[in-house]
Amino acid sequence: MKKTVVRFAPSPTGFLHIGGARTALFNYLFARHVNGEFRLRIEDTDKNRSKPEFTEQILSSMTWLGLKADGEIVFQSKRTTKYRNAVEKLLESGRAYRCFCTREEIEERRGNDPGWKYDQKCATLSKGEIQEKLDAGEPFVVRLKVPREAVQFNDLVRGEMRFNADEFEDFIIVRSDGSPIYQLTVVVDDHDMGITHVIRGDDHLSNTPKQIFLYRALGFTPPVFGHIPLILGPDKKRLSKRHGATSVEEYKNQGFLPQALVNFIALLGWNPGDDREIMGMTELTRAFSVERISKNAAVFDFTKALWLNGQYISMLPDEKLEDIFIELYENKGINLEKTPRLTKIVNLLRPRVRTTVELWDAGLFFFRAPETYAPKGVRKHFSGEDTEKILNADAELIQSCEPFNEEELEARLRGRAEREGRKAARYIHPLRLALTGSTASPGIFETVLLIGREECVRRIQNAIEFIKKDRETHRRGR
Ligand code: GLU
Repeated sequence: MKKTVVRFAPSPTGFLHIGGARTALFNYLFARHVNGEFRLRIEDTDKNRSKPEFTEQILSSMTWLGLKADGEIVFQSKRTTKYRNAVEKLLESGRAYRCFCTREEIEERRGNDPGWKYDQKCATLSKGEIQEKLDAGEPFVVRLKVPREAVQFNDLVRGEMRFNADEFEDFIIVRSDGSPIYQLTVVVDDHDMGITHVIRGDDHLSNTPKQIFLYRALGFTPPVFGHIPLILGPDKKRLSKRHGATSVEEYKNQGFLPQALVNFIALLGWNPGDDREIMGMTELTRAFSVERISKNAAVFDFTKALWLNGQYISMLPDEKLEDIFIELYENKGINLEKTPRLTKIVNLLRPRVRTTVELWDAGLFFFRAPETYAPKGVRKHFSGEDTEKILNADAELIQSCEPFNEEELEARLRGRAEREGRKAARYIHPLRLALTGSTASPGIFETVLLIGREECVRRIQNAIEFIKKDRETHRRGR
């Protein structure tokens, strides 16, 4: 049986976005599932919009996602001769012809008829007439002579597709500046690369019949086509910038793990046929089948992406999460080392974050005393008349607690609260705010231990200073 060869063929006119990444992933999984090849082709023929930086970006996003392509990368910009040869072949065989009609002439013949199709005026020019025009330097485009017949193909996703003969005209395959259009380059490349299956976005559906005409005209066998449905935003409009991050790069910068993003993207318009949701690349590869690609548009659910990412963060080995943590902090000017304390901190934070970037806000207080206190917390926990007394009691308790461990701290704090007829929370809330600047943190006793005795006492004193000043300001303000 012929080896399955698929390709991802991005145009380097922007970053790799979610839709493109999904096309790449589906092709990758499709190929890997049957031990086929996954090729990459950079469609960089649009000189104005294509940029090498974008090619770099696309490649690095693919590497980050783990979508390694097989063989050499094909660049369309290096294949001009191939396209020229194909056009020569079509002209020679009479399957294409030069069209010298000017834009104005065409406009005039079209008139107000929106359904007008090119009338094949130049299809019947004699060799002599053509030569004359060429000698006179008249500009021309090349048009494919499209047979007046319906096109049918069996789409892997959408099933039987049929396009009527009257939907097509003799379309342009080479522009007047000599550059080949997309339909031609794709067909020539897919043929040369031995592509057996073209899996791409729905937006290319209308190109497929034209490409089939080209395959036939060139004497090539068309590949199998599969068009995957659009991705919509939560408002059911086509996914765009309006809906938030759209490029893989942005997700990376927002603290998504590549495995999580791959998993999430795989479920955009595909499902394994059971209720599995968390699936790594190996499992996805094993489970993937085009039969399970939905015909309906996929709806992008950012909350689900966050949830999945959180799941992957919770599964990361300590080593890995520590590396991520250290790099994140280093980038912001805090150098950390791998110590048992760091392992504890990272594991305390792990269930509390959904992106790795959140590890910064969630964990900074372990390394830096708070400079401000959450205003809501201040109103709630720092305002009572007895707050200073309570905070002093907390400091004293932390200072004198022996052995200095969680159980002892907790037992002493609860004991004191009980003796004084207060709730333990009355001691815990102001303490948390004083130590972390925030009203939420991991368990307070673990937090105290990890911040350390002396540092806790210092922070409590800072908080008392703050409370005094704050009270002073209010008094004067009144
Ligand atoms: N270069 C095209 C695009 O980026 C894809 C062409 C294809 O898959 O046939 O949309």
